[in-house]
Amino acid sequence: MNVKASFSSSVLNIIRMIRCLGSAEKMTSSQIVEIQQDRFSRQLRHVLRYSEFYRNFYRKAGIDIERPELIQLKDLPVIDKDLMMDHFDEFVCNKQLRKSKLEDFIKDPDSVDKKYKDEFKVIHTSGSSGRIGIFVYGANDWAIAEAAVYSRISKNKLHFIGKAKHAFIGVTDGHYAGISLAKSGPKWLFDFLPVDMNQPLHPSLVRLNDFQPECLSGYSSGVYLLALEQLKGNLKIHPTRILCSADPLTSEMRETIRNAFGIMPYNYYAASESLCMGIQCDRFNGIHLFDDLHIFEIIKENGEEAKPGEPGNLVMTNLYNKTQPLIRYRMNDNLIPSENSCECGWPFRSVESIAGREEEFLFFTDPAGNRQFIHPIVFVEFFAPGLEKFQIIQTEPNMLVLNVIIKGNKEEAIQAIEKRMDTILHQKELYDFVHYKINVVNDIPNDPQTGKFRLIIPYLNS
Ligand SMILES: [Zn+2]
Repeated sequence: MNVKASFSSSVLNIIRMIRCLGSAEKMTSSQIVEIQQDRFSRQLRHVLRYSEFYRNFYRKAGIDIERPELIQLKDLPVIDKDLMMDHFDEFVCNKQLRKSKLEDFIKDPDSVDKKYKDEFKVIHTSGSSGRIGIFVYGANDWAIAEAAVYSRISKNKLHFIGKAKHAFIGVTDGHYAGISLAKSGPKWLFDFLPVDMNQPLHPSLVRLNDFQPECLSGYSSGVYLLALEQLKGNLKIHPTRILCSADPLTSEMRETIRNAFGIMPYNYYAASESLCMGIQCDRFNGIHLFDDLHIFEIIKENGEEAKPGEPGNLVMTNLYNKTQPLIRYRMNDNLIPSENSCECGWPFRSVESIAGREEEFLFFTDPAGNRQFIHPIVFVEFFAPGLEKFQIIQTEPNMLVLNVIIKGNKEEAIQAIEKRMDTILHQKELYDFVHYKINVVNDIPNDPQTGKFRLIIPYLNS
């Protein structure tokens, strides 16, 4: 790691960032708009200098890139994950980064918990679009994300004696956004317990009872599962802060979690594209979006900006990632801007809810007649080298067909997909009676009725 990167990763730098984020929290909404504008113009100059993709893309769209001072955000064309992944090597602002090398890094089991070239944090996901995405954070980008998580999300209370205890429940065996961020805290400040949702639950309950976390975070469905166990008396923990993310936190789940642990869970909005997009405040009126670090545009189908109460598609500009900058990047999330401003004092705008992440559960029947399932997040975060896009169709009660688009060596990619599928089926103890077939295809069309992509299509009568 070079000197600059090593300073960026230091506790000193993170404390500096926390201070800077704290001062933004005290600003007025119009001051936030000013820093947004300032950061946007700097980000634009940065990509025009370092990203060949953005230069060509904007030039082709008729943008006068020689005069960036005249360019407004709304003049720029929208991008998406497909476009970014198709031009990855020209897209990123650091020439050390190559898509093929990053794929090798992700598939190496020894790379979990490590930084690429000792400097870059690498996150991968397929997201609900079904297309594999790779997101790289440089040392300073990651420090900003970490600082935002400590100061606005986890709010871990540090102790003079002993360490703060944090447990995370979710998918834990890869470079996924949730686990990567949850365990990135310095080891001399935090004790961390990862709980894998795909492993049998009982041993995890024993570990949690022994660990007694102060902060419990993870996938909403995972925290909900733990709440049910707490209500049954199998789990006896007393966290003082609960954070739910990744999949939808329904009102029923929120109530169950509150009944089980005696505190309200916070709905936390994060994605691989940015690990700290927003969170509920103590008043629990919608979700505040951190618009000092991003520009969030909520766009209706007709292309206009959504008004309060109207749903729209999120187009996000990340203002802090200088390694893989996302400018007007279309996400798969639907947001509804809030009607009223919150009185908590935060200058950040809020949204009522975030939808569009609901994917389907797959249900199976085991030989004893019991119902078993695979959580959709398993497929939302499915990764195999060479796999470009995929869709899972349950064609019979215990039969799955995977339609896959492959780039590069077909045999190697199929082997990697089979290996990952077998692991999933073994973990869920479905391997003996659930079968699957891999179909290599050139295209996976969207649902003709909705026009949207369906990652998982369950069997109709299951
Ligand atoms: Zn608020």
